Amino acid sequence: EAVYLVDILKDVIDVFKLSHPDHEFILLKEDLGKVYGDKEKLTQLYMNFVSNAVKFSPNGGRIQLSVTKEENQLITKIMDEGIGIPEKDIPKLFNKFYRVDNSATRKIGGTGLGLAIAKEIIMAHEGMLVVESKIGEGSTFLIRFPVWEEELVQDNKVKNISVTDKDLVMVVE
Ligand code: ATP
Ligand code: MG
Repeated sequence: EAVYLVDILKDVIDVFKLSHPDHEFILLKEDLGKVYGDKEKLTQLYMNFVSNAVKFSPNGGRIQLSVTKEENQLITKIMDEGIGIPEKDIPKLFNKFYRVDNSATRKIGGTGLGLAIAKEIIMAHEGMLVVESKIGEGSTFLIRFPVWEEELVQDNKVKNISVTDKDLVMVVE
């Protein structure tokens, strides 16, 4: 199915907004493009990032989500003003059960699975990920996915081969 990323981000913000009055949630939507994928999994993906953004900014602050388009990629970002991530830990964050261990994180709970699951979902959707962070200032997770272009399908540049109702293979020539 083709899903609007902006709709997913809106839903995820709605889930967290009410229970986190100390955070300010912002959604910047420059683009309403669609991505080809599983709506539930993509929702889970952004839930995991936003749950981290909230959890690792114990003093509140702004959590900004954005969707923009660059060429044929949809770029989503999750930015927080939280505790930040040490540079040496960044390459390991997506390993199962990996958690940063320092005085700032010790009081904050978790199992270390959220980002390992996120990585699987991103890979399954042919996405890419960039992490930027500064200790004490915050973190940004950037995820890019190929845009699902209806026009390509109509122009016969993309053939949809239905495998099952759920799985659809896209062939670009
Ligand atoms: P779980 O998601 O399973 O409840 P978790 O949140 O600890 O547990 P992950 O979501 O996989 O685990 O994140 C791994 C680690 O990466 C975290 O424990 C934390 O140290 C660090 N981390 C992730 N997101 C952020 C963030 N936005 N700011 C600071 N540190 C982060
Ligand atoms: Mg988590």
